[in-house]
Amino acid sequence: MYKLDTKCVQSGYQPKNGEARVVPIVQSTTYKYDSAETMGKLFDLEEDGFFYTRLGNPTLNAVEMKIADLEGGVGAMLTASGMSASLIAVTNICKAGDHVVCAAAVYGGTFNLFNKTLRDLGIDFTFVLPSATAEELNAAFKDNTRAVFTESLSNPSLDVTDIEMYANAAHSHKVPLIIDNTFPTPINCRPFEFGADIIVHSTSKYMDGHAVALGGVVVDSGNFNWDNGNYPMLTTPDETYHGVIYTKQFGKAAYMAKARVHLMRDLGPQASPQNAFLLDLGLDTLALRMERHCSNAQKVAEFLEDNKNVEWVNYPGLKSNKYYDIAKKYMPNGSCGVISFGVKGGRENAAKVMEALHLAAIVIHVADVRTCVLHPASTTHRQLSDKQLDDAGISPNMIRLSVGIENSEDIIADFKQALEKI
Ligand SMILES: *Cc1c(COP(=O)(O)O)cnc(C)c1O
Repeated sequence: MYKLDTKCVQSGYQPKNGEARVVPIVQSTTYKYDSAETMGKLFDLEEDGFFYTRLGNPTLNAVEMKIADLEGGVGAMLTASGMSASLIAVTNICKAGDHVVCAAAVYGGTFNLFNKTLRDLGIDFTFVLPSATAEELNAAFKDNTRAVFTESLSNPSLDVTDIEMYANAAHSHKVPLIIDNTFPTPINCRPFEFGADIIVHSTSKYMDGHAVALGGVVVDSGNFNWDNGNYPMLTTPDETYHGVIYTKQFGKAAYMAKARVHLMRDLGPQASPQNAFLLDLGLDTLALRMERHCSNAQKVAEFLEDNKNVEWVNYPGLKSNKYYDIAKKYMPNGSCGVISFGVKGGRENAAKVMEALHLAAIVIHVADVRTCVLHPASTTHRQLSDKQLDDAGISPNMIRLSVGIENSEDIIADFKQALEKI
């Protein structure tokens, strides 16, 4: 068993004698076979192999195996975006009439997907506050609850989830815990080791790391027992595959197999081979980059905390942070490079500081090599009501800062001069 930083470089693709050292981009939608019979067997899921890129592709496969290995899962499936990863993770086991317990502090896009789009399709959601106790969390479950969803470290409010508490609540109600592990990445947080069952990522963030390729991934721990009466879609025949029963045919990988052969087949948000290749390049340096993002962010957060024009700083690595202890448990080597802070003087001064920055650019994105800033209340979360903003932990003077991998002294100097302007 290799260490995580070795896996970042070595896992997923093992070339045979004379083959390309670097994972090749297989830019082909189709695959040739010598007989119609083999093709038929592929269609019936009786044999393993590629036949159409919507269902699988060798480049994607190599990257999927690398990510599954990094998270410690039995399988992974790349998707076109983080949004489609969350869509598939939930709808793979929830249908109209089912209910999901979800943390209120999830990414704005995820909140809209759940609260609007999936609600319109008949799946019900109860959102629980980040401060929820075990009793409050347990009280959110209903007879028809089929999943629990939360982010290990929420975007952008940086709430750290007590993963064991969530896993215990989910398991005592016989449902799986789905964790969005985008911000800390598998380098800094190990959800499966604390009882999570399914992990999703927006790979568009740190995994890619360079802001070049949109993508997502669903990872299956293989640990959840689906055969408890609640998941007929996994334990009864699927007529669209001549009656295959996923738990029987695929065992521990039933969830992952169904996500691919059912939902990826029907919905089609497949990643492109080119993007998978770029993601793989990013993964090669993920461990190195996360270390630098975290050490830079720690220094910047400490600088901001001491600055007289800053009202508050939210970073789990600060001793003043309410999640300092729990972050030490779930993210012992650091959380990520994202910090949020409030500028004195409200919304107006927040905008002034942002405009005075030179090195840090104003962009929607977070979690890439370049330092950048964003004002969530007027951008990513602008659809939310004041109450929803408050529940998601966002205030009008909040700046979300994504600390890059530049020299920390240059980043600090930029914020120092910008904060002096107010
Ligand atoms: C960005 C993000 C998403 C959505 O991912 P896309 O790749 O933009 O579709 C989901 N969850 C979290 C935590 C994110 O930061």
